[in-house]
Amino acid sequence: MLLAGKNALITGAARGIGAAMVEAFAAEGANVWALARSQSDAFENALGDMETRYGVWLKPLYADLTDPAAVTAAIRLAMADKLPLDILVNNAGIMAADKPFQLTAIAEMESIFRVNFFGAMQLTQLATRWMARKGRGAVINLASIAGQNGGSRLDYSASKAAIISATKTLARELAPQGIRVNALAPGFIQTDMTQALGDKVTQDTLARTLLGRIGKTHEVAAVAAFLASDRAAYVTAQVWNVDGGML
Ligand code: NAP
Repeated sequence: MLLAGKNALITGAARGIGAAMVEAFAAEGANVWALARSQSDAFENALGDMETRYGVWLKPLYADLTDPAAVTAAIRLAMADKLPLDILVNNAGIMAADKPFQLTAIAEMESIFRVNFFGAMQLTQLATRWMARKGRGAVINLASIAGQNGGSRLDYSASKAAIISATKTLARELAPQGIRVNALAPGFIQTDMTQALGDKVTQDTLARTLLGRIGKTHEVAAVAAFLASDRAAYVTAQVWNVDGGML
């Protein structure tokens, strides 16, 4: 198993790509602190089922990433388990409906950055201090092809470009502490986020995707599990596209 005995913290864990990552990591032998925005019995039951299926522990954590005190409290709760943290996956993110830049209020842009960038950075700060105690760790940030090429909405694309830049800068700064930092840039993956984009965007995207289909959440999760594992021990500061070949 790729991740046997590793402890991971994954955000946005209750649905979409994050939920698939919790399952993929558990199937590869990882224990997971699964961070969701709000408490739900369905989420906790799903974690319980996977614990039985895969023989690992999966603990729910709750925090809204726009609330710094809640993020700190969630990390403190996880640290109270007195275990090392090996892997952080900054997966939680938001997008908003397409809107021309000239009509987008600065406050709307800030709200996207608060989740996609500042929330992830606060968590990374706390988590990497924790990893540094053991002198090892792997951080995986969810970027997007929109962060590389620009996209239909400036604030989302810019927040993902900021994540790519942070990935490379952090990889440089944290390498001496034994911490690898990489990003995944998904293309068009079937989740609630892309469902909201509508048929026209879906068809246009498919037309420029070599594999000619939309990606599945488990296909992103599989790459994350590899990148988080010791098999990728010599990989840092990279952005790996998982986009079916978008040219
Ligand atoms: P999704 O289905 O919309 O799920 C987003 C997740 O983020 C949810 O679990 C959500 O929690 C969580 N979240 C949002 N705001 C939060 C907040 N303030 N505090 C805590 N959690 C919050 O999205 P997805 O498609 O799985 O996307 C996952 C990541 O991949 C995102 O970073 C996204 O930008 C990136 N990505 C996705 C695609 C794609 O095609 N789907 C492409 C490129 C990049 P709730 O359930 O509480 O809302």
